[in-house]
Amino acid sequence: MPPALVNVQAVYDDSNVPCTIERYFHCARCLSELREGRDERGQPITPISARDYSRTQIGITPRGWQVWCARHDCNITTITLRPKAQPKGGR
Ligand SMILES: [Zn+2]
Repeated sequence: MPPALVNVQAVYDDSNVPCTIERYFHCARCLSELREGRDERGQPITPISARDYSRTQIGITPRGWQVWCARHDCNITTITLRPKAQPKGGR
């Protein structure tokens, strides 16, 4: 399978790039702990938003992207890119 074609643009100046995220990825275990008010060791968690509690890492994989929970060291989701369709006729 040929590698997925993707154009990744690293933008470090965030002043002109608004957040257009409509839905977020969260770790199910983190959300469960927030609901229960206790972390995985049973220690109480101060009420906090999922955004502030999460410790997610997002990175590029050989086939797309992966969202990883650093707190629980587990996969949240993978986003796999399909190879770009080649035009008929071999071009
Ligand atoms: Zn987690």
